[in-house]
Amino acid sequence: MRRFAYVRAAAVADAVSAAATPDSKFLGGGTNLIDLMKMGVEEPAQLIDINRVPLANVEPHAGGLRIGAMARNSDVAAHPEVRRRYPVLSEALLAGATQQLRNMATMGGNLMQRTRCYYFYDPSFRECNKRTPGSGCAALPGYNRIHAILGASPQCIATHPSDMCVALAALEAVVQVHGPRGERSIPIADFHRLPGATPQRDTNLEPGELITSIDLPEMPFAARSHYLKVRDRNSYAFALVSVAAVLDLDTNGAIRQARIALGGVAPKPWRVPAAEQALVGQQPGDAAWRAAADEVLRGAQPQRHNAFKVELARRSIASALGAAAALS
Ligand code: SF4
Repeated sequence: MRRFAYVRAAAVADAVSAAATPDSKFLGGGTNLIDLMKMGVEEPAQLIDINRVPLANVEPHAGGLRIGAMARNSDVAAHPEVRRRYPVLSEALLAGATQQLRNMATMGGNLMQRTRCYYFYDPSFRECNKRTPGSGCAALPGYNRIHAILGASPQCIATHPSDMCVALAALEAVVQVHGPRGERSIPIADFHRLPGATPQRDTNLEPGELITSIDLPEMPFAARSHYLKVRDRNSYAFALVSVAAVLDLDTNGAIRQARIALGGVAPKPWRVPAAEQALVGQQPGDAAWRAAADEVLRGAQPQRHNAFKVELARRSIASALGAAAALS
């Protein structure tokens, strides 16, 4: 492991100021970053410990909720207002990792999780454009069962690993950041990047920017929401496919609005407005779910080992929407 400096910040301004040192990384729960450093994938020159920065509150904000970036995943999952108003977020958080990891992992850190592509984690594979730009992609000709079927590029076919971010995409969350040039808001749809020709960049954060909170908008119908995660084993595994579904039904039971986001299938949480639009005015049921799934999966490009994800996603969309519709 490369030697690195360690500093502690007590306030947002201190953390941002310390981040002026090149190759700095913020250290929250450390549940992903420390692993990556041990593997030699991340080699920061400086760690800025932000565990004493007071950013762990969950509080009302503009009719919705503001969740501090240092709030622990387990605390947010158990928060009564999150469970009552945004159950899809609580369910997604509880579907991630293990209880011990959720007790450490922070909301900001969850946004910054890096892909679980096997080749990315193993520097003995020299070809990985995300780890070493321009080196190639070992997954393309290699074993690509867990990789993307949507949104990938010839440079990288890795999937985004977070469950939480899939729920945030369906809830249209906004990420608040503070950096050298002040504060700004980033809609969750713009926070993560598609790989294109620069797969080494996972997000649109600028150097030195610190995530301070995640805002959930006022969305009364989000009480009717569900997160479905399909994986190889029932605990401590990443999604092969996941679906965050939010439905707004009118008094006749027809769908007034819908939000659908998928995980495990693309380099970022995958939301297709045309699929949501296809549900508007429809009665809940198989025909409506099929139409939405067709829109989501239009243009899917499976790799050699993951064609099964197309049908799995289709069925998962139907199942998640059906579960949301059945909620009282
Ligand atoms: Fe690296 Fe992306 Fe290829 Fe995986 S899919 S080996 S992360 S470039």
